[in-house]
Amino acid sequence: MIANILSIAGSDPSGGAGIQADLKTFAARGTYGMAVITALTAQNTQGVSGVHLVPASFVADQIRAVFADIRVDAVKIGMIATAEIAEAVADALTKHGEGVPVVVDPVMVAKGGASLLAADAVEALNRRLLPLATLITPNLPEAAALLGEAEAGDRDTMAHQAERLLALGPRAVLIKGGHLPSNESPDVLAASGRLTWLEGRRSATRNTHGTGCTLSSAIAAELGKGLDPLQAVTEAKGYIAAAIARAEELSVGAGHGPVHH
Ligand code: PLP
Repeated sequence: MIANILSIAGSDPSGGAGIQADLKTFAARGTYGMAVITALTAQNTQGVSGVHLVPASFVADQIRAVFADIRVDAVKIGMIATAEIAEAVADALTKHGEGVPVVVDPVMVAKGGASLLAADAVEALNRRLLPLATLITPNLPEAAALLGEAEAGDRDTMAHQAERLLALGPRAVLIKGGHLPSNESPDVLAASGRLTWLEGRRSATRNTHGTGCTLSSAIAAELGKGLDPLQAVTEAKGYIAAAIARAEELSVGAGHGPVHH
């Protein structure tokens, strides 16, 4: 049976990040994609020029409508924008989504620096959404913000922060090391009582728009197919590496281009 995967995230009209990236990823991974929209952004490959929020109650209405009719095999949560939307998403998933794997990508800042999460929403994200998560996928600045600590600059600190994030309630934590001050880009997965390092090299590319969205969506798709977190992350990392390599075939915008699904 084909897995049904739901993204709860913001829209990127340029098609590189947000729900547009999520839906392309779900299709490319052989799953059926669905999308609940939390916010519209006005943006292109060069940056975000506006954000228009969907009322939190209407985000909940969208989630309710999907779950009332459709079997959902996994959920990916991306841009949640505000504390009110975080609360509404948590309430709706607690009510309708019991037992469904949830990947939380704690989206905070767009590549160009625009804020995609209100400052007071980090607390709601921690308190309401992390405990619902099967896996969270912060990068180094996001892990630091969730913990209220300085950003990790080495592997030991990444490992400690992964353990500390686990204590906030998610079943597994993937910290992405792409911001480390070296040519290496190791990710660390804390799951099932152990730490696993997934080695990577930083690719020399400007085509990084939507890479976080794509990775978390690919993980959700694989969890929805029934893989465990380590298998799902391994598959998803292979997929994003190939999508970055294929981005050279695209000609989309003058800024940080999207990956090719
Ligand atoms: N979600 C939305 C709606 C966005 O616009 C962005 C970035 O612009 C992101 C998520 C995060 O993007 P990335 O995958 O590049 O971290």
